[in-house]
Amino acid sequence: MNLADRIEGLRVRIQRACNSAGREPASVELLPVSKKQPLPLIREAAALGFTRFGENYVQEGSDKAMALPKLAFVLLGPLQRNKARPALEHFSEIQSLDRPELVLRLRHLAEELDLVRPIWIQVDLWDEATKLGGCSESDLPALLSALDGDARLPLRGLMAIPPPEDGSAFAHLASLRDRLQQELGQSLRLSMGMSSDLDAAIAAGSDQIRIGTAFFGERTYPAR
Ligand SMILES: *Cc1c(COP(=O)(O)O)cnc(C)c1O
Repeated sequence: MNLADRIEGLRVRIQRACNSAGREPASVELLPVSKKQPLPLIREAAALGFTRFGENYVQEGSDKAMALPKLAFVLLGPLQRNKARPALEHFSEIQSLDRPELVLRLRHLAEELDLVRPIWIQVDLWDEATKLGGCSESDLPALLSALDGDARLPLRGLMAIPPPEDGSAFAHLASLRDRLQQELGQSLRLSMGMSSDLDAAIAAGSDQIRIGTAFFGERTYPAR
């Protein structure tokens, strides 16, 4: 199947999920995830109007950002301290912040590089931190206060990769988002839902779905 057809199928699926949830399709952002997809395919998606792409690895995403300077890349994967500089330089947003220790480093570098980078907190309500990263609910207050009021690292929302076996995971995330919005007095976006579970995520109120295989097809490893 070619890219345009696959995206069309995806749009129909999103439309259907929105219809059953009584939501406007325009209220759900589709973020294509281009990790392990080759540059020509990303160029093809750009020609179809997509300008922002999710990437998991700092090195791979930085290479792509340099090769495709008109496009924006969002960091979805685990961020190590020693990759903080390239992450800020080459990604337009960081969605995987998960610990307060990183905030100081990011803030210092953002000052030095004179950059503003919207931040999303990756949350892990299921104690899977070792596998996929994410801040536990009990560590959230420390992370939120580390970020508090930082003009260079404005907080945009919450991102999560819930375990597929937990049927109420999306609902839990939605209520955590509601509670934090109240506490912080600001609106927060919710990034949840991938190729296999975007329908349930939309039903539960996701603002952004991150779609890899259902958008680009199976992942390939670009030859270097
Ligand atoms: C790979 C990945 C996605 C996309 O996964 P698919 O199942 O291919 O849609 C979304 N979010 C994150 C954080 C990912 O690592």
